[in-house]
Amino acid sequence: MLIYKLGPGIQVKGTVLYINIRPRKAAKGLFITLFAGVFLLAMNATAAQTTDDIGLTQAERDYLKTKKVLRVCVDPDRLPFDGVDGDRQHAGLSKDYFDIFSRMLAVEMVVPEVQDWNDLISKAKSRECDVVSQINASEKRKSFLDFTTPYFYLPLAVVTRYDRIFVEESLEGAGTQFAVIKGDIAIDKLRQRYPSVVLVEVKNNIQAMELVYEGEVFGYIGAQGAVAFAIQSLNLNKLAVTGSLPLRYELSVATRNDEPLLGSAFEKAVLHLDPKEGQSIRDKWIAITIEKVTDYTLLWLTLLILGTVLVVSLYWNRYLAKANRKILDTLKDLNDVKAQLEEQNKMFKRQSITDALTGIYNRLKLDEDLSYAIKRSKRTKNDFSIILLDIDNFKLVNDRFGHLVGDEVLKAFSSLIASAIRETDIVGRWGGEEFLIICPDTDLQGGKKLAEQLRKRVEEYEFPEKQQLNASLGVVVHEDTEKADAVIARVDKALYRAKEQGRNRVEAG
Ligand code: GH3
Ligand code: MG
Ligand code: MG
Repeated sequence: MLIYKLGPGIQVKGTVLYINIRPRKAAKGLFITLFAGVFLLAMNATAAQTTDDIGLTQAERDYLKTKKVLRVCVDPDRLPFDGVDGDRQHAGLSKDYFDIFSRMLAVEMVVPEVQDWNDLISKAKSRECDVVSQINASEKRKSFLDFTTPYFYLPLAVVTRYDRIFVEESLEGAGTQFAVIKGDIAIDKLRQRYPSVVLVEVKNNIQAMELVYEGEVFGYIGAQGAVAFAIQSLNLNKLAVTGSLPLRYELSVATRNDEPLLGSAFEKAVLHLDPKEGQSIRDKWIAITIEKVTDYTLLWLTLLILGTVLVVSLYWNRYLAKANRKILDTLKDLNDVKAQLEEQNKMFKRQSITDALTGIYNRLKLDEDLSYAIKRSKRTKNDFSIILLDIDNFKLVNDRFGHLVGDEVLKAFSSLIASAIRETDIVGRWGGEEFLIICPDTDLQGGKKLAEQLRKRVEEYEFPEKQQLNASLGVVVHEDTEKADAVIARVDKALYRAKEQGRNRVEAG
């Protein structure tokens, strides 16, 4: 619609004058209104061109006068561009153009009944139409029609199911089928541009849409806008305009070619069309958008695969982390158990070589150490001595104070001996109240000296229950090649002698 702004608060929409006057500006508004009225009249005068304005010749005017009524054939199947309404009256975009043509040429027009495009062509051939409202020129048609300069251009559009994608390559011989209306100029244009295109000719766009809908053909090629309009009016919500082609209908008015004055008159009318008016007609009728259909299948598939990979890897990661934790826990448990076992082992080993009561070495350990001392002295050629101690009259301690005190005395005795010897000396409980000391690198002299010191320490020591106790000691030096049993037997004899000779003394063997 044309809108003219004539001043503040005043505008003309089409042929209606709108005035919006503010009270303070009433006088000014009134003046402008009058001015606008005059302007509007002038405008309408220029818009309503007449036969004179478009320069019709006398011959053309006479022809039209004689003709009185023109039979304008209209394709009933191409709304919104060309068509008929419910009362079989001319409708669509071409109707607005023909209103202008009718005014310009000062001639009445009627619309004969036409079944479809093919019917229209045959009626044009048989001169049942004086004019065809909108048609693309072609050599074939020129045998019975004259064509004006095109007054309307319309691109070719492709209709497919909305979930399909149309690409121009589909037209280049992949065997993909497209429906086209029989006799449509699109067929020639398509064959020229895409020589191997597979076209299925149908009667009208309803049939074409059905084939697309049923999947019998991939798409339908027709006039953009017209096809979109058909989709909407047929309510085929599965179909969509999914592409357009670099081809267009160049729509002219065609006139019967046996009456050339008609053609020349229409050519003048077309050339005198006001471009602004043409634009407003097109704006009124064309409100279509080409739907851009993107194939999201690949995107969704990729997302699905990525999603699956992500979920699986997350799950797998969690599983691995869990398994890892389990393994680490198990390892820690195992390490704990190992440490416990090692600790226990150490304890067992300690217990196996320790005398339970006194905490010093036991006889087993003394046997081992004695064997080791024998081997070592063999290697080093150094002497070693052994001392055997026996508490004198120990039985009396038990008898007098009981076994518990006896035990305490044994413990005190062990501590005393252990604290009185060298670090390299080894002391252990040989049995009962007898103790053995191994003194490495010690000759008989050294052994005797130590034994005497020990005897003295015992004698001077105050044992539990303020007891004064003594001990008898045997001391021997190990002789070459002498076995453990032999050296023990000798030191036992020495101790026996010490007992025999009155106790509380050292006897060397
Ligand atoms: P002798 O001077 O001849 O060595 O006389 P003795 O009484 O010391 O010797 P005897 O062999 O007659 O007695 C040793 C005693 O030591 C007998 C035993 O009850 C006691 N005895 C041995 N082992 C233990 C012990 O672990 N605890 C206690 N309380 N007494 C013990
Ligand atoms: Mg004894
Ligand atoms: Mg004794």
